[in-house]
Amino acid sequence: MTDPLILVDPTAAEFELTDLGAAQLPVTDLSAHRGDGIFETVLVSVGTHGATVVSRERHFTRFRASASALDLSDPDQGLWDRVIDSLIAEVAAADPQNVEFGIRYALSRGEQDANGRFRGRGWAFPVPVDDHILTAREQGVTAVSLDRGFDAYIGSKAPWLLIGAKTLSYAVNQAAGRYAAANDADEALFVSHDGIVLEGPTANLIIRRGNRLLTPNPEAGLLSGTTQRLIFDHAQGLGLRAEYADLGLDDVKDADGAWFVSSMRTAAALRELDGNAIAVDQNLTDRFQAIVRGR
Ligand code: PLP
Repeated sequence: MTDPLILVDPTAAEFELTDLGAAQLPVTDLSAHRGDGIFETVLVSVGTHGATVVSRERHFTRFRASASALDLSDPDQGLWDRVIDSLIAEVAAADPQNVEFGIRYALSRGEQDANGRFRGRGWAFPVPVDDHILTAREQGVTAVSLDRGFDAYIGSKAPWLLIGAKTLSYAVNQAAGRYAAANDADEALFVSHDGIVLEGPTANLIIRRGNRLLTPNPEAGLLSGTTQRLIFDHAQGLGLRAEYADLGLDDVKDADGAWFVSSMRTAAALRELDGNAIAVDQNLTDRFQAIVRGR
């Protein structure tokens, strides 16, 4: 079978299953040439009791918040739930052995009609947990710090920057990843222009200091991560306190453990930052991964 793609018509609240390999998106769609849209990537974990979409509700809540930030129409949760469930059924039918994969779903502003109104367009397709992700989970990652180019906490004064919305404009994030790779690092770690640690291009940062888990405050200028919040919800059960904090690079370098966390990565230990070794807490890495994967 071909790889599945679901095309969503949010206006008609309809969707159709089609082929990911076929041409689908008109170049006049504003997502294609302006990055004007939003997306989510969820991890699907398949166990003996069926498939679970990890943090399904958290993801959809953020999808709605992103839509609101971009003045897109409020996404219909029932419609998107049916889309996600249909894709899971397609993947399961094609490969019953597949116990873990991602689903990327997106909503574009779409195209302008003859009356000047935009007709939104959505889509969803499965993404594999590839070798790159498996290696990061198993071996951890190295990172270089990069100036994000704005001061921390600028978002409330500059809502047009869409800080905290998960938009389809990821060219800067992709460029940061390439810059990191060119400098022999697996990841980039964004730091605000005034020195506050923010996030990676596609992941949040958590550090452990003693019995505390610390992560940058989303208000400082980053995406509020579903994985970070899931892990924080389990902190007490791990005997840890979880807090948001303004962190500098030295806080990360001196941490008792540090992780890049995201839906697909789950938790990857950050073992080196700007050439400085960071303590690796393997026990907590394993526990974080188990929490996110639900196994
Ligand atoms: N920060 C950014 C910029 C991201 O793109 C992502 C996810 O792709 C994250 C953080 C982590 O978010 P989540 O844990 O919800 O996947």
